[in-house]
Amino acid sequence: MRQKLVVGNWKMHGDRDLVNRLVEGIIDAAPLVGDAVEIGICPTYIHIEQAAKLLIAANVGIGLGAQNVYCEEKGAYTGEVAAPMLAQLGVSLVIVGHSERRELFAESDALIAAKFKAVQASNMIPILCIGESLEQREAKLTEQAVLEQLDAAISEIGIAAFHNAVIAYEPIWAIGTGKTASPEQAQEVHWLIRDHLAKQDAAVAAAVRIIYGGSVKSANAKDLFNQADIDGGLVGGASLEVNEFISICKSAD
Ligand code: PEP
Repeated sequence: MRQKLVVGNWKMHGDRDLVNRLVEGIIDAAPLVGDAVEIGICPTYIHIEQAAKLLIAANVGIGLGAQNVYCEEKGAYTGEVAAPMLAQLGVSLVIVGHSERRELFAESDALIAAKFKAVQASNMIPILCIGESLEQREAKLTEQAVLEQLDAAISEIGIAAFHNAVIAYEPIWAIGTGKTASPEQAQEVHWLIRDHLAKQDAAVAAAVRIIYGGSVKSANAKDLFNQADIDGGLVGGASLEVNEFISICKSAD
């Protein structure tokens, strides 16, 4: 039985006050969410330590995540942050390959695979984001686009690495647009991903959590999370409001 996972991606939002309010609000409300659901939050790099202090003091089992990482361990990489630095702050989850990084920062499949490896080498869990654009969906290229991104990672990292990873299926046309994939559309792709993995390693396919991202909110979360192959959500905009985020987490229970 796969434990559901709901992760808030705060993107480039928040100041110290908002981070305090969000983390404290989520800590207070977390007991209302059943044990069947793991919760994670991904503040900006500079707010990770602030969030970590609050989470450690509260000790309620909320996972701390990062939105990005660099693949090298150390060196002359101005502006970058290494996986061991994140691990030292108590980070356990790291998003790699978010479509905003692929599109706005031209991250390649090879770089994303290297980041995935670096995250695991520091004993953290990568959340690998994959998803098709609107043009690809309209051209009926969803399966090809999603599986190409997945295969690019598998060929670099190996299928066994997915024992300890999360996959986030995020159709690009649904991110931050208010357009959500229908539960059936999302389930179809989640099943494709799991089936593809099963052809290479049945145990990995059965165990890996595949979460959905793209305008998840309290109004649509339950129907999405009820699908057989949807193991939770990666939540952007709706994770910046405590009641809304907690209500999404409860929908996974
Ligand atoms: C995301 O940031 O991964 C995301 C899915 O954003 P939103 O929920 O705002 O669409």
